Amino acid sequence: MEITKGQIITRGLTNRCPNCGGHTLFKAGKIFELNEACPACGLKYEKDEGFYLGAMSLNYGITLVCALTPVALLWYYGVLGARPAAVLAVALSVLIPVALYRSSRSWQLMLYYSFFPQHLPRNRRALDGIEDENV
Ligand SMILES: [Zn+2]
Repeated sequence: MEITKGQIITRGLTNRCPNCGGHTLFKAGKIFELNEACPACGLKYEKDEGFYLGAMSLNYGITLVCALTPVALLWYYGVLGARPAAVLAVALSVLIPVALYRSSRSWQLMLYYSFFPQHLPRNRRALDGIEDENV
């Protein structure tokens, strides 16, 4: 395989194309618009409908574990009052998903190609007669 899982993970954590390593996941000058495909190597980022539900789940899980649970515990143990805890929880539940939007898309691609590195165009090889591409 030309591209290793380590490279896929490194590229995923740095918001880069898993196939060529270019900084091409998002449209230039846009914060939230994913390119349909990598302008450098042509890897399609837009997958089946629902592909990026995993990114939303990652975002939700991180927000819940890293922000809302600590705020709830601070409120439960009396460190924060109910009103400041509620305001903080609402603010964090909006800000964290927005802040992690780009990274969570990249992490979703990273997870997918970590499990299926053979689906990257640079990792494809000629198939034997009995093999199925399974793409
Ligand atoms: Zn690329």
